[in-house]
Parts: sequence; C-alpha cells; structure tokens
Amino acid sequence: MRLIRSRHDTRSAILGYLWCSGGSFRPDLAQGVALTEASISRIISDLKSEGVIQETRRAAPYRGGPSLFITLSNQISVAAIEISNNRLYSAVGTLAGDTLYAEQYDLADGLGAADVDATVTRAVCDLAAWATPRGIALEQLAVSIPGYDPDLRASPIVALDVPALADLCQRKLPETPARWTNSMVARAVGHRLQMGTGVLGGSYFFVFVGHGVGAAIVDELAESGDVETCEIGHVVIDPSGGRCRCGHAGCLETHVSTVALADILKVPESDLIGRGDRWPDDYRISAEARAAIRMRLGRLGLAIGNALNLNRQRNVVIAGWPGALPADDRAVVLEAIGQSRLGGLQRVALTFSNASLGREPVSGLALAAFSFIRRSGERRARGRQLISS
Ligand SMILES: [Zn+2]
Repeated sequence: MRLIRSRHDTRSAILGYLWCSGGSFRPDLAQGVALTEASISRIISDLKSEGVIQETRRAAPYRGGPSLFITLSNQISVAAIEISNNRLYSAVGTLAGDTLYAEQYDLADGLGAADVDATVTRAVCDLAAWATPRGIALEQLAVSIPGYDPDLRASPIVALDVPALADLCQRKLPETPARWTNSMVARAVGHRLQMGTGVLGGSYFFVFVGHGVGAAIVDELAESGDVETCEIGHVVIDPSGGRCRCGHAGCLETHVSTVALADILKVPESDLIGRGDRWPDDYRISAEARAAIRMRLGRLGLAIGNALNLNRQRNVVIAGWPGALPADDRAVVLEAIGQSRLGGLQRVALTFSNASLGREPVSGLALAAFSFIRRSGERRARGRQLISS
C-alpha cells in the first residue's frame, strides 16, 4: 500500500533523501522516496528552477546508467548558533554542507545573564555584519541551547534570555526564519546526517555523552521529523553528590560528562575534547582510572535502562566519548542497561557511534539545513528575487 503524500511532503522527502545521501542519481532518489521517476520529475524541475537543488553530469555508475547527479544547492545559505563546551559557535553554511563562516566565543558555564547577553549580542551582530554586505540571504537560522525548554524564559544551564535573543535576531536578520531548540536536537540531527541513508528504521533512543549529557527520541518515520528530547544528564542519581551546572546535586552529568572524564584522566577538558576519537590511545590510562571509567559507564547504563522503562525504545545509539573505548569497556554499559530495564536486554540493540566531540558547529548547521528541508525547501521572497536577478 502506498500512502498518498502531499506535494509538501514529497518535496520534503526528496530533499531529506538528498540531505542524508549527500547526492543521488535520479533512479536511486526515486527508489529512496518510494516513488517512480516519472512522478518526481515535476518536483525535481521545480526545485531546480527555485535553486534549491542542482544537477551535474557525473560518470554513470554502470554502462548505460544515469549520468545526471542531483545534490542540494551550494547557493542556498543557512546559519547556526550553537552553544556547547563552554563556547558559543556561530556559523553560515550551504545546504550542500560547506561551511562559509565560523566564529567562536567563550561562554563559560555559570556566566551571569549580562555577560551571556553581551556575548550573544556580539555573535549575532558579527554574523549579520558578515552576511549582509556579501548579499547572502540566510534561508534559515537554527539556535541550539543546552537545557532549552520552550516553556521557560531562560534555560537552567545557560542564563540566556531567549525572547530577548529572538528579538535581536529579528532585528538583525529580519527575513530569516529561526528555529529554537534544545542542544540535543542539534546533536541528534547532526548525528542522523552522519549516518547517511543506511538507517536503523523506525525510532531510536539517541544518547550524547560530552560536555553536556542528554538524550533524544528520534522517530524516523514521523513526517514532521520531530525530535523529542530527554534531560537524561540531569537525572539525579545521588542527591548528596557534587553540584551540577543545572543547580541540582548529583546529576548523571556530574559523573559521566567530559568534565568528569577529564578529572579522572587528570587532563584539561578542552584537550580531551580536541582529541575526539583518539583519546583512549593518546592518554596513558592507569588501572585505577580504567576502573573509575567503568564505574561511570555502569551509571550511564543504569540511567539509560531506567529511561527505557519510561519510554519503551528498543534501539539505542550512544554518541560521545564512550564510543572510542574498546569493546570490553563498552560492554559495561549494555550490562547495566540489562540490570535496570524491565525485561533485561531482551530485544535491545545498542550501537556506539564515533565521538563527535569538538566538531561544532557541524551539528548546528545540520539542524539549520534540516529545518529548511522540513519546511519543504520553500524559499522566502527576497531570496527568490536574488536568484532570478
Ligand atoms: Zn544537573
């Protein structure tokens, strides 16, 4: 049975496939979105004339095969503001995935509202001052903030006045739609882009373990592409434990973040993050440190197992520092999930993904491109005029 999809949904599906695949020949694209080549040809030609996609000639994959290769356009620009690792990253990139502009600003955890405001204002003004004189029309802005919740004026993690920032963006980038999200949405979307078109299928529970620790439920089948976040990092596991940046004590994050790991390894956290997946090879890890790391992995597994008791997901993907560890260390996580999940490990599939540490603003730009695609690649009026003139 084939579902009848609206034109909007078909456009989003085509753009989403091109986004995940990094480009495709027409027959593969049609197959990827479960439609015939004939039925997508009108939409392809519309998207081409709107400048959202581009077609280039490439060597055919087999004799007599197709030679026109379709990619997302490198003429459409999107922007991101991503707060992560004690920094604010701002960037402009193309739909095709190139980064055109990237800047970073220090934004230490626990900074007061006035200082946060000054830094954010500077970042937005710098970004607008870069894009405007170049005539670059930004089709989408994605802003990702740790601990962001649309019901709260400010995040408990970063003293950022969201309505004030939204006002500023509206003034500086008046024609650019903005999407405001929790950092974990950007992480999950950025990770989804890395996975390409080889998908798990259905929904999965995505956990990121970095400077911040959080999770998201990614529903691949939902047409809206919505990602629901869970603040697993702020599950309190020891109320008499150390102070967390959220204001509580003994959160999971204080045990398993890169701050905690750097402390165990006795190295600066920025150095650890900078090493990405190489950290277990680069550092000499003592037996004592290894035991401490395993204990922390056990805590992580218990929290994930408990989260699965509340939301019955079967596929779990962990990104962040644990992914770089040898299999026997990582096995501790799975074992601990089994100790806390009702029904044990039955039918739970756990995948570790590469570290994705220190890659900002890649996730933020992925989220901006994804948001543009989800509104089916409809450009705003000024952008269309710029293309045709
Ligand atoms: Zn916390």
